[in-house]
Amino acid sequence: MALEALGQLLNLPNIFHFLFLSGPCAAASSKSGAIMSNEIVNSSESWRAINDPRIGSTQIEWGEFMIKLGARACIVATDTSLSDKTARKLWFEINQRISPPGQQPGDLMWYLKPTVRRFHAAMILALYGECQRSMPSYAAFAHAYYHYARMTASGSDRKTWMNDPAMRSSDQNYLIPYSRGRFLCNVYTDELDASGNRLCQLKVKRCKKCSSLFLSTALEASQVCPNCG
Ligand SMILES: [Zn+2]
Repeated sequence: MALEALGQLLNLPNIFHFLFLSGPCAAASSKSGAIMSNEIVNSSESWRAINDPRIGSTQIEWGEFMIKLGARACIVATDTSLSDKTARKLWFEINQRISPPGQQPGDLMWYLKPTVRRFHAAMILALYGECQRSMPSYAAFAHAYYHYARMTASGSDRKTWMNDPAMRSSDQNYLIPYSRGRFLCNVYTDELDASGNRLCQLKVKRCKKCSSLFLSTALEASQVCPNCG
């Protein structure tokens, strides 16, 4: 997607109007989405018959959904409360290979370069904030990321799309992979400490010229986005 077009796309109020008028789960649960609950219910595989009463099909469904968006098994286990063993089995079943190990990302400056990543990061944060209003925390990020991935699909090679443009053959096929997006949403906050300083050095701003949301740092004085500046 051209940078200019993406900048226009990130005039987010219009996007929210489009996405959420029909309910926050409409796109994710569509036929072309990914997981259908009857796939889970009708499964005859014994390992799916989980005895832990805390774990129902809802977590399995969300686990599959996250994996198809590029989430690694350790993240799926953490966010769904599925066991690590179950998350890895799910991951293997879907991808026919073992979930790669991965360290938690920790570099906040990664989100600022290249420039287009600033717009993508702001989009993910805005979508996540919206999803948090109506969804449990384990599902909010996955749902937000699904919409992010759909909205930015044209920026990736079509050959990497699975049945759904939001679901790609590798987490390398997203400008911001699932784990990076999740980390950003976990650490980003607009809260201030007792001295009035931001707790997070990153800051989402709205461009004074084109109204796009973009990620910046609290120290950067500019109030216009990289497209307009
Ligand atoms: Zn701008």
